[in-house]
Amino acid sequence: MYKPCPNCNSVGSLRRSRAKNLFESILNFTKIFHIYRCMSCGWRGIVKRNLRIKLSFVGLLKSVILLFLVYYLVTYILKNYTN
Ligand SMILES: [Zn+2]
Repeated sequence: MYKPCPNCNSVGSLRRSRAKNLFESILNFTKIFHIYRCMSCGWRGIVKRNLRIKLSFVGLLKSVILLFLVYYLVTYILKNYTN
């Protein structure tokens, strides 16, 4: 992880953080966003990963399908837990 911290801009201090709730688990599951913690200032939040995957139609399609699955999963869960 060579992205600078969004809070203190220090480079190389971000470390992967464990998901603490369902929403964060889903984010980790998408492999696009991850929860990071800054070792120098203690900031914790969501950072989009540097995707080094070559752009391919299949890869793009998989990402779109996965995002829709996650979206429907989240709305399904929200519906069942808010009633
Ligand atoms: Zn920081």
